[in-house]
Amino acid sequence: SYAIIARQIGGTDVLEQIDLAIPSPNAGEVLIRHTAIGVNFIDTYFRSGLYPWPVEKDLVLGSEAAGVIEQLGEGVSGFSIGDRVAYTLPNGAYVTHRALDAKHLVKLPEGISDEVAAAAMLKGLTAHYLLHRSYVPERGQTVLFHAAAGGVGLIAGQWLAAKGVIAIGTAGGPEKCALASQHGYGQTIDYRSENFVDRIKEITDGQGVDAVYDSVGKDTYPGSLHCLKTFGSLVNFGQSSGPALDFKLSDLAAGSFSVTRPVLFHFTAQPGYLQSAADALFDMIGRGDIKININQKFPLSDAALAHGELEGRKTTGST
Ligand code: NDP
Repeated sequence: SYAIIARQIGGTDVLEQIDLAIPSPNAGEVLIRHTAIGVNFIDTYFRSGLYPWPVEKDLVLGSEAAGVIEQLGEGVSGFSIGDRVAYTLPNGAYVTHRALDAKHLVKLPEGISDEVAAAAMLKGLTAHYLLHRSYVPERGQTVLFHAAAGGVGLIAGQWLAAKGVIAIGTAGGPEKCALASQHGYGQTIDYRSENFVDRIKEITDGQGVDAVYDSVGKDTYPGSLHCLKTFGSLVNFGQSSGPALDFKLSDLAAGSFSVTRPVLFHFTAQPGYLQSAADALFDMIGRGDIKININQKFPLSDAALAHGELEGRKTTGST
């Protein structure tokens, strides 16, 4: 049994492998043997110190995983040894074995593999709340989704298309744009070589879009606001290029805009949300409306390499 920990805040070199004893589940917990772990941009935010550490030192990173239940703690009901389960929680997932409160788990239906679950719990539930809670686009509306070829981006594009929403995606480079167009985006913009605000104006006949989903942050602000129609909504849900520090409330006056800065874990903490959103996601995957693209795989011991690729904009889809 081993874990990948960040000894301290820093670059990928602070990640280290340490041996651990297999934990025993306390009351209410189950012991899970992980079979697949998702890598997410949030893991790099914790490692780099952008997000505050919940511990003094030696932080086990990782926020998404799937596995098999090997032991049940006292009083656990609804789960059995051998059940395949998945979860998303901030930190703690870069381990081979984990004891976890059963309330965080969802059971995996037959058609959902462990790898798909580990690639889709955090990213897919994010796509779910973005489109069903944060800004709920109507059929026929037009939205802009940045980093469309990324983990969340490829899932969101397919979900938007299934809802009949016109999705425009940005991505870095022609190959990523081509991939995004195969996953629900009717139009794509290579924001490394084109001015995305000008292109949005062109595509929408000067109207702008109903909403922008922006996880890039610094590099796309305030451009994202300039893409909105009057009364449009900006959903800022990340900062892969760094935080958008120059935001002012008065910026919204240009078009009576709305803005929100949501976090997945606030939604999953709502009673009933985790199971119902996971059901919706697994249903979409099961019906083939959403395909989960696992485009990079690494052994857990190579977590530092995975972080480098993700931060270096070298990945597409899920890792
Ligand atoms: P992605 O697979 O989308 O990877 C991030 C992508 O951002 C890159 O591939 C790159 O795509 C783009 N990007 C743009 N500028 C930069 C930059 N300067 N450095 C690195 N990448 C850049 O990651 P995830 O799917 O894991 O997450 C997507 C985003 O959503 C992240 O910002 C993440 O923090 C956020 N998120 C937020 C959640 C929430 O609840 N608030 C939950 C889940 C994710 P390209 O080359 O095409 O520009």
